[in-house]
Amino acid sequence: MVFFPKHPSTDSILEKCLGGERIEPSEALTLYKEADFLKVMEVSRRVRNRKVSSKTVTYTIFQIVNYSTFCNIDCSFCSFYEPYSSEKGIRLSPEQIIDKMSKASEQGADQVFLQGGVDENLPFDYYLEVLSRIKSEIGRHIHIRAFSPVELLHMESSSGMSLKKVLQNLKEAGMDSVPGAGAEILVERMRQILSPKKASTSEWIRVMESCHEEGLFGSANIVFGSEETPEEIIEHLSLVRGLQDRTGGFLSFIPWTFQKQTKKFYVRDVPSTEYLKVLGICRLFLDNIDHLETSLMVIGKGVGSLALHGGADDISSVVLEENVLKSYGIKSEQKARDFIYESGFHPLRRNLLYETDCYLMEGEGRDGKTEVL
Ligand code: SF4
Repeated sequence: MVFFPKHPSTDSILEKCLGGERIEPSEALTLYKEADFLKVMEVSRRVRNRKVSSKTVTYTIFQIVNYSTFCNIDCSFCSFYEPYSSEKGIRLSPEQIIDKMSKASEQGADQVFLQGGVDENLPFDYYLEVLSRIKSEIGRHIHIRAFSPVELLHMESSSGMSLKKVLQNLKEAGMDSVPGAGAEILVERMRQILSPKKASTSEWIRVMESCHEEGLFGSANIVFGSEETPEEIIEHLSLVRGLQDRTGGFLSFIPWTFQKQTKKFYVRDVPSTEYLKVLGICRLFLDNIDHLETSLMVIGKGVGSLALHGGADDISSVVLEENVLKSYGIKSEQKARDFIYESGFHPLRRNLLYETDCYLMEGEGRDGKTEVL
């Protein structure tokens, strides 16, 4: 639990950020409650430009493979899953996954995100087979980001192995990194509302810490826009910053807003100004995470373009398949590049580890400028 004493001036807090000083949770809360969102955006933009090139915005291309829609976790906001008794549920065989990946690879995807429900009918060997066959049949160059903490916890309990051993086996089979999925709001009161059967806050932290210890790095996120309080948003960010201080395993952070998917779950309208302010606070408070993504898939291009001028340096991705969210996402590389150009930046393709060199076009420099050869 984070203690929030009162803090007087938003300008002095923003000055601290500009001076490179770390801000306290209470100061982040003051920004959230009292600061002018344009001022937060401006300082966030300047801090962003110290960490990454002011001229470029990155993107990647990846295929999402939802390997199973069966799940018994019953998150109140989720319209994706099917109970085990359902006839509508989908469970993909390794062959079907390879088929999807091979088509995605033809469209230029060299990154895949494997995501599913918690499917008790899948043995641990299934995951190992999928990972190793993607690498052997599509190619070693395919980067596999896979399995949120709740899926990993299920593998731990169903396999009878320690989490460390589970992760080592998955890594050996081909898993390269982990998503920040399933964090939503890392505060127990909210987790009881959203998904009481899902990984608790401490379990989520334990799984992520173990992943990072095993060299499985990735992203972290927050999903807000329901019944959470401003204090709970900052508490979530504090937990992520603390974990990052210990492991350094988060390459990027992504603030999302909830989408209305089910009747069981309250979603409020998050004004664009609030989204942009939270995004800016993420940039300022999470001083130990270099990259900040704005998710066009959820917020759309208009606000996404503003976010790039308010602290974000990445548009999340060109996603080739997405079943979990109603998507406003960009569906082709050319559209991603056009969007970034139109927003005033030079587009640079990256992989899920934020490496860009492998995609630089002839004569293109890392800061987006054409190099003089
Ligand atoms: S969000 Fe994930 S864990 Fe929760 S019900 Fe949906 S598929 Fe299951």
